[in-house]
Amino acid sequence: MNRSNLHSKLIRLLLIIIISAVAAPGFLATRTIANGVAAVPQYDDPYSDFRNARYSNAGLLNERDEIKLGAQLHREVTKKYNLTDVGLDRVDRIGQRCARASLRPSLVYKFHVIQGREINGFSIPGGHVYVTTALLRLANDNELGAVLCHEVGHLVARHSLQTLKKSKEYDDIANSLGNLTGVAGSIAHDLGVSLGQIVGAGMLTIHSRDEEREADFLGVRTMPGAGLDPQGMITIFQKLLRIEERDSDLLGSLFSDHPDAQERIENTKYEIARMKRR
Ligand SMILES: [Zn+2]
Repeated sequence: MNRSNLHSKLIRLLLIIIISAVAAPGFLATRTIANGVAAVPQYDDPYSDFRNARYSNAGLLNERDEIKLGAQLHREVTKKYNLTDVGLDRVDRIGQRCARASLRPSLVYKFHVIQGREINGFSIPGGHVYVTTALLRLANDNELGAVLCHEVGHLVARHSLQTLKKSKEYDDIANSLGNLTGVAGSIAHDLGVSLGQIVGAGMLTIHSRDEEREADFLGVRTMPGAGLDPQGMITIFQKLLRIEERDSDLLGSLFSDHPDAQERIENTKYEIARMKRR
């Protein structure tokens, strides 16, 4: 083998090594992580389970029945809580921006304000979102937007519909909704009784830690598109943390059952740093 032949063989071998290294996903992944270390403190991605999720009503109540269910549940909510127009314009204006920027923009969302000293927010199927007057007093617009985008996140991921699907009442409710043509009549009455119990028990508004984490993830990612500063999600958690230390009775189920606020703050910081790198 002459010298120039050996030379060209070496170059070819080198090229093969370079090409296979670049093409191997492990190499690219390592490089991405290496860049990440330079930009933000290193955490495991708290949201890795949700990044590739696709959302639909498949396997759950279809959207038409979901909306019927929501109308029935809303009637039960109005029996349990005092709704008010105080602050409603502000909630609706910000909430509709979250809805439009979300991964489920075609649903008709209805925002409501509940009169009460408990700091709370929750949502039910069919696009109904509720926040209390106490939350409105506590939160600036970006912070209120964080809560509303979080609640829209629960609706995007159909968390309550999944809870309902697992319940023993599911078949009865699904059948009643299928037969329901209006709000009057015996079917609506029977349905109202069982849905009243469901609302009373908070069955559809209490979520698992993973569901909360997913709604936080969907919420914070929705905020920039809604014209909101995602830092609002951090500062509302900080406010809630201070209240929790002082007077936890003021916190409604929305916050008291969630993963602890400090963890949510760290996770949100992680995601905001990640969004900025894109
Ligand atoms: Zn939640």
